[in-house]
Amino acid sequence: MSTLFEEFQNYLNKMNQYDHVITLLYWDMKTCTPKLGQKGHVEALTHFSSEAFAMSTSEKLGEMLAALTEPTEFGQLTDTWQFIVKRMKRDFDRNKRIPSELYKTYVQTQAEAGNVWTEAKEASDFSLFSPYLQKMIELTREIAGYTDPEKEVYDALLDQYEEGMDSATIDMLFEDLKKELIPFVKEILAKQRPENPAFQEYFDPDAQRKVQAMLLDYIGFRKDAGSIGETEHPFTLNFSSRDVRVTNHYYEHAPLSSIFSAIHEGGHGIFEQNINPEYDNTRAGGCCYMGLHESQSRFYENILGRNKNFWLPIYDRLGELLPPFQKISPDDFYREINHVQNSFIRVNADEVTYCFHIILRYEMEKAIFRENIPVHELPALWNRKMQEYLQLTPSNDAEGILQDMHWSDGSFGYFPSYLLGSIYDGMLLDALREELGDVDTLLRNGKIKEITKWLNKKIHWYGSTRKPKEVIAAVCGKEVSAEPLIRYFKEKYSEIYNI
Ligand code: ZN
Repeated sequence: MSTLFEEFQNYLNKMNQYDHVITLLYWDMKTCTPKLGQKGHVEALTHFSSEAFAMSTSEKLGEMLAALTEPTEFGQLTDTWQFIVKRMKRDFDRNKRIPSELYKTYVQTQAEAGNVWTEAKEASDFSLFSPYLQKMIELTREIAGYTDPEKEVYDALLDQYEEGMDSATIDMLFEDLKKELIPFVKEILAKQRPENPAFQEYFDPDAQRKVQAMLLDYIGFRKDAGSIGETEHPFTLNFSSRDVRVTNHYYEHAPLSSIFSAIHEGGHGIFEQNINPEYDNTRAGGCCYMGLHESQSRFYENILGRNKNFWLPIYDRLGELLPPFQKISPDDFYREINHVQNSFIRVNADEVTYCFHIILRYEMEKAIFRENIPVHELPALWNRKMQEYLQLTPSNDAEGILQDMHWSDGSFGYFPSYLLGSIYDGMLLDALREELGDVDTLLRNGKIKEITKWLNKKIHWYGSTRKPKEVIAAVCGKEVSAEPLIRYFKEKYSEIYNI
């Protein structure tokens, strides 16, 4: 091992200490910091983020990366280290082009926009948020001009969250979904049924916490390498494969919310826990592809968790922990967790109409970055698209354009990841069936951990070393297509709704 490589590793270790502190601060702010304590944390977070950014763009790092990518040095590296060095070099070259003042303005505006978004949502008043959204759009555009000067802006943004994906591919996938799902959802809605009031009774939050622990254990989330926190908007984060944190919220009269968030975040967590530990604290560890990440959380939540057979081995246990479920039959439970209905809020949508919520946001983002639609016209555009896809008109901004935080923190281009995840899931389900046999049977026999093992081996282990398209090619032997997801929807919901 060369001294250069040792020096490089020491430098990486130091960078990791900053990342560790940043992650910890973020975790603390989102789960337990009191309102008045937030400011102190934001200051610390800004400090450590700026330090980390300085380290990731320092001349010293640049020199080391340049030397390590020289053929003689590069040739001595293992495949994994070649991947890490190449990726760091690419990120370095990109970040280095961003003027540090611009980066600082971006981080500050991001924090401000986040706070204003919260207030605007509470007041249900888009006009409060609108100037900050404008700034975030301009800054995002400006930064993309530095990081990816050769790419069209929105394609550059998409690529940041799902490397290798572009709007031409996404257009094609989403058009296929629209063509098939718009008429299919109409057929489902013609057979609409009322909400089941049994699910609105009182469900003890403490018991919901126990159900969460039971579910995480059942699907294979490891307690010795993971823990659970509480927050309003559930998320997952990781320090390494040995310390992965999931979060949840517990509503007294909406037990399905915590149950499916538990399974969803558990899916993210299982991914992170099962990445090759050799990649810990490097750019190969963690999964940096959001669509691929969502494919795993949504595979557990929807493909497995909304299958009746998932619940059969544990339904009695669910009733013991949350007695109101004793009065609900597994059939009624199954119908309710697959209740298709047009709704305002993305995170509460069923798995089928969820697709429309994402397509709407994707089209909004294209309108923002391609057609330069002025910010003040966005609420009206949102409402028109809601009417087009979901036949609803929000009565206020909070249940319309202000519902998601993504744009406040500059995550433009993120939304398509959720639906790409589901598209991958349709393909993964086909591949899983081919290799392990009937999924219903596996689930009915309580063998979900065999599915987890399969996902571990096929996908999780590789962390970020394979791009999403490469993963799909390796596991499914095909190019990305929406056809399997459409087929899955049609088979499942034709049966449930007698179509
Ligand atoms: Zn997720």
